[in-house]
Amino acid sequence: MSNGKEKKELILEVKDLHTYFTDRNDKLWKILEGVNLKIYKGETLGILGPTGTGKSVLARSILRLIDYPGKIVKGQVLFKGKDLLTIEEEIFNKIRGKEIALVMQNAPGAIDPLRDMTYTTSQPYREHTEEDLVRSEIKLLVISQLGKVALPEPIETSDKFAHELSGGESQRVKIASAVINNPTLLIADEPVSNLDATVARQILNLLHEMKEKFKLTMILIAHNLGILAELSDKIAILYAGKILEYSNVDSIFYDPRHPFTQGLFYATPSMAPRGRLKPIPGKEPDPRSFPTGCRFHPRCEYAIEKCKSDVPELEEYKEGHFVACWRVKEIPVYEKE
Ligand code: SF4
Repeated sequence: MSNGKEKKELILEVKDLHTYFTDRNDKLWKILEGVNLKIYKGETLGILGPTGTGKSVLARSILRLIDYPGKIVKGQVLFKGKDLLTIEEEIFNKIRGKEIALVMQNAPGAIDPLRDMTYTTSQPYREHTEEDLVRSEIKLLVISQLGKVALPEPIETSDKFAHELSGGESQRVKIASAVINNPTLLIADEPVSNLDATVARQILNLLHEMKEKFKLTMILIAHNLGILAELSDKIAILYAGKILEYSNVDSIFYDPRHPFTQGLFYATPSMAPRGRLKPIPGKEPDPRSFPTGCRFHPRCEYAIEKCKSDVPELEEYKEGHFVACWRVKEIPVYEKE
């Protein structure tokens, strides 16, 4: 008998993830430092942060796609309980593209210009299937898949090449390809960053439909508050390689507690209280020399001495709402009006 509280299935847990890069002067860029996240079945976790803050590195670290001079130096990425960072490459190859799929930004640039859309769309399927399908069977599968992402002429599109598609059509093809194996987890990394507003809206609607249709769990990476508010169940705020705040979408939007999150809202016309639009002072820190203590302290109006030396870790401020700030209880509440 159900007790009314269904146990949620944990799909992905990122624990204490550290990913560093080395430049040609052997200087260390600590792009991710101690990232912790949990994603449950059917949820969409939105990751919000400024450009260059480590969002894409996080996506690539989960998929173990960090090449030299980058390195995952510490941490775990547990997918259904298995640590993706330590399993053999051969086993990971059976997961990447099948159970976990990635939709990257700049889809036109990610498509091989010499291959048609039948080849492009079916690539993850061909890599993982044991069936020996002939091209006509693959083509039928691709046409059906292109229809699912609402491309108006899937038969014609299956024969086209990248230069014959618009940016929006290319992104639809990449989404069709990503979900062709019905993955458990879809990572969408800035999926609409290079698209105009109308096409971006269509792609976001499509991602939402795909999530429902394929019962996907999703990580959606963006730097746009509106996109994440609409599509996410939970949001993690990433700044200078660290998660500063993490909660369900309502709690983040109605009660942001971290001064950086509040700063983002006060700097966004649709989010700022009337007459209180103001930018966050200063600029993003250089990853080669992040500030000591709280990485946001040089820009924070509430900083005290302790903030300059001691690193605040994520603490549960209220149920399910985590904040990394020494003064979380003293920060004034965000009042939209
Ligand atoms: S820890 Fe200190 S510097 Fe960092 S956000 Fe909180 S008050 Fe500001």
